[in-house]
Amino acid sequence: MNPADITHSFTGPTASRVTRAVRAGIGADTTHRAVMPPIHLSSNFFFDSPGVCGDYDYTRTGNPTRDLAAGAIAELEGGCGAVVTSSGMSAIAVVTRLLSAGDLLLAPRDCYGGSHRLFTAEAARGTYRAEFVDFNAPGARERARALGPRLIWLETPSNPLLRITDIAAWSRLAREIGAICVVDNTFLSPVNQQPLDFGADLVVHSTTKFLNGHSDVVGGTVVTADSALLEEVAWWTNAMGAAGSPFDSYLTMRGMRTLHARSRVHEENALAVVEALAASDTVACVNHPSLPDHPGHELARRQQTGWGSLVSFELRGGREAVDAFVSGLTFFALAESLGGVESLVTHPTTMTHASMDLPAQLVAGIGEGLLRLSVGIEAADDLLADLARALSRAEAVACLPV
Ligand code: PLP
Repeated sequence: MNPADITHSFTGPTASRVTRAVRAGIGADTTHRAVMPPIHLSSNFFFDSPGVCGDYDYTRTGNPTRDLAAGAIAELEGGCGAVVTSSGMSAIAVVTRLLSAGDLLLAPRDCYGGSHRLFTAEAARGTYRAEFVDFNAPGARERARALGPRLIWLETPSNPLLRITDIAAWSRLAREIGAICVVDNTFLSPVNQQPLDFGADLVVHSTTKFLNGHSDVVGGTVVTADSALLEEVAWWTNAMGAAGSPFDSYLTMRGMRTLHARSRVHEENALAVVEALAASDTVACVNHPSLPDHPGHELARRQQTGWGSLVSFELRGGREAVDAFVSGLTFFALAESLGGVESLVTHPTTMTHASMDLPAQLVAGIGEGLLRLSVGIEAADDLLADLARALSRAEAVACLPV
């Protein structure tokens, strides 16, 4: 069964994406008429006779619960279908299967550290070639055209510097040169950006983040509006055994019901946090596309439907100030990941991007004083008070004579 058909039939063809996300899979249980869909944990399904079965035979290949989640994600991104995978990294690994030896993958210098590690390691083995470039440098598209990549990997906003890349322009170039344009949309979720509408071929997510939203699932997805690409991606997902579990799929679908509502509070809180950081003398610079002086501000206005709730900033006073700041926080937990209801702080150079060697980090612009916040949905006043306490600790260190 086409997962998109399932959700269409229960929400009506005219329902908005918000309504579809809230109601994904509701009424799918025709056996007991449960309102919420059941979880099909079974790894296998009955055959009628040798070689003859219903819609499903084996859960690695297909599963009703996972298909409901995939259908819901595809609708949110405006795709024709999606695969749900066991992690964001397995989704990324599945996409790299579209490359053959000798093909070139072009990726941003400051992409997620795990993506950088995978691309670098596979390129070192000759699985494909990889180059890390600055997509926003003058003449970048002309240089890319000359390099002739097979796959163009965009991450916008980028992790952790929140740089914005023009999805429409790079997708156009990809089409002209017969390449595939992929956007890792983890940082914004489909609520704030829908790359397929700007011509991207594939969208990847770590559903561990906003889509699930509760920091209790590790998962991923690949979405496309092209049925031939969907078939290829689904084939590799099955062949590699990269599919997500039914239970995780259920939890992710449950999380997606509140995605739009959560996103509103995430953004409201993030804007308050950005304002507080920008007003602090202890902060050398704040990276958030909502700021009018952010180099990607106008582009973000055009291609995003929200600013997002990831913020990074550079503290004066380097590592010592970072340690003082982090130890002064109560509500921002020092932990990896992002996009959950809870606020988090990350030190990219020692945490999320530690797998990048120092020269790669420096080229990407990731320094010792950089911190990244994932602003959660707690009361804004509590978050602002927490930041104020931590900033005053950092300030005490930053102002010490050296
Ligand atoms: N893409 C981005 C932008 C990420 O931040 C992450 C993880 O932090 C991933 C992909 C990988 O996702 P996962 O940890 O679910 O494998």
